[in-house]
Amino acid sequence: MSISKPISMFLALAVATTGFLSFERFETTSPQIHAPEFLHINLEGEEVELSLEDLGSGLREASATVEVFGKDLKLMNRSFAGSLVFGEGPKSIKLKVRVVPKELGISEEGEFLLKLEASDWSWLTWWRGNITKIEIPILVDLTPPSIKSEKGLTYVRRGGSAVAVYTVSEKTKHSGVSVDDEYFPGFLLSTDNVTSGDLEKHDNRYISFFTLPWKASADPEIVLIATDLAGNISKVDFPARIKERRFADVRITLPKKFIDNKIPKLATHLGRTPSDDYVKAFILINEEERFANEEKIKELVTATSSARLWSGAFTQMRNSAVTSRYAENRTYFWKGEAVSRAIHSGYDLASTANAPIDAANSGRVVFAGDMGIYGNCLLIDHGLGLFTLYAHLSQISVRVDQHVDQGSEVGRSGKTGLAGGDHLHFSVLVNGHYVDPKEWWDPKWVNDHVEKWLD
Ligand SMILES: [Zn+2]
Repeated sequence: MSISKPISMFLALAVATTGFLSFERFETTSPQIHAPEFLHINLEGEEVELSLEDLGSGLREASATVEVFGKDLKLMNRSFAGSLVFGEGPKSIKLKVRVVPKELGISEEGEFLLKLEASDWSWLTWWRGNITKIEIPILVDLTPPSIKSEKGLTYVRRGGSAVAVYTVSEKTKHSGVSVDDEYFPGFLLSTDNVTSGDLEKHDNRYISFFTLPWKASADPEIVLIATDLAGNISKVDFPARIKERRFADVRITLPKKFIDNKIPKLATHLGRTPSDDYVKAFILINEEERFANEEKIKELVTATSSARLWSGAFTQMRNSAVTSRYAENRTYFWKGEAVSRAIHSGYDLASTANAPIDAANSGRVVFAGDMGIYGNCLLIDHGLGLFTLYAHLSQISVRVDQHVDQGSEVGRSGKTGLAGGDHLHFSVLVNGHYVDPKEWWDPKWVNDHVEKWLD
C-alpha cells in the first residue's frame, strides 16, 4: 500500500523540521544578567533591580541566593513559561530582589555575596539549558558618616539667606541642611581622598544655601544632615543664631477698574471663569492659580546646575523705585471687606513703561513664557540651587536653555498676569524658597557670606 501524496509530503516536512529544530534546540546563547556591580547597604537593605535577557530559546529559571557565614540562603526562585520542544521562553524579564540583612540573620558589618543564576530553554547541559551565574559583593556598613561644619556661629535672618560649608567623611547619597521640615541640598565643592580601602573614605566638601523661611517656627531646628551610600544617616546641629524680623502688613484696596477690566480678561486667559462675579474670579486667580504656579516653579528649580554660574552681587533693575517689598503680608479688600490674602514673594520695582530688564546675574534660562499670575515670566538658574524670577514682562527676548550674562537684556517690563500697572516683580529663590533679594543685591553681604567660601 502506498502512502498518499499529501501525507508523504507532511512526513517529509515533519522530519526536516524536527532535524532543524533539534539542531536549533542545542543553541548556545547564554542568558545575560544585568545587575549592580556592588551592593553597599545597612541592615535595612534595599530592593535590587535585575534585568535578564536571553536572545536564544528564552528564559527558563532565575534564582538569587545570599551566602551568609558559609550557608546559602535563597532569596528568589522563579520559573518562566516556555517549552522543551520549541523553546519560546521570554526574551527579557525585569525582576526585583529584596536584600535585607536583618532578615538574613546578619547583625554586624561585614562582606557577603549575592549569587544570581539564570537558565534558558536550550537542550544543552542535559536539557537544563545554558546557565549563567554571577556573584555580587555585598558590603554591610552600619557606620554613619561624620559631618563637620567649617563655619562658626552663623546669623540667619528670617527670610534671609545663609550658607553652610561642611565636610562629610565618605561618599553620600545626599547631604544638606534641614530647617524644621524643609531640606536644602548641598553641592559638592571638592573631594579629598584621605584613606583608601574597601570603604573608599573621602573627605567630601559641600556648600548648601538655605533660608529660615518667613513662616518657619519661632525656634527652628537647623541641622546638617548626610546619608551615606548604605543609607546610614548622620545629623549634627548647625551653629546658628536667628535674627527675627517682622514683615509689614499691607492693605490693598482692589480698584474697581482692575476688577472690571483686568480680571475678566485674565480669568478667561487662565481658564478660571466661575461666574460673572469678577471678585470671585480674582480670588480664584490669587489663590488657586497662584498655588498652581508655585508648584510649577518648585518643580522647575529642582533641575539646578551643580556648578556655580554666577559671581558677585546681583543687580537691581536699573533706575527703579521700590513699590513693594519681600514677604509683605497682603490683605485684599473689596468694598471694605477682606476677600483674599497673599504673601509677596519678592520686590516690585517700577521705572518707565516697557523698561529694559537685565539678568541680575549670569545663569541659564530654565523658563520663558506664560506663568499665570506672573504673566510673561522668566526663571534663571544661577547654579547651586539659586534662581531669579522676573514677572509681568511685556516682552521676553531670551529662550529656554540660553546662557545669559549679568547685565544682558532679557526682556521688557509690563503688566501681564496679576498686575495693575507696569512694573517688574523680582524674586530670588534658594532651593525653591523665596528669600529677601536685598541681601543678594548687597556686594558686602555677598562678599562676606558667599564669595569667601567659594574661592
Ligand atoms: Zn510683586
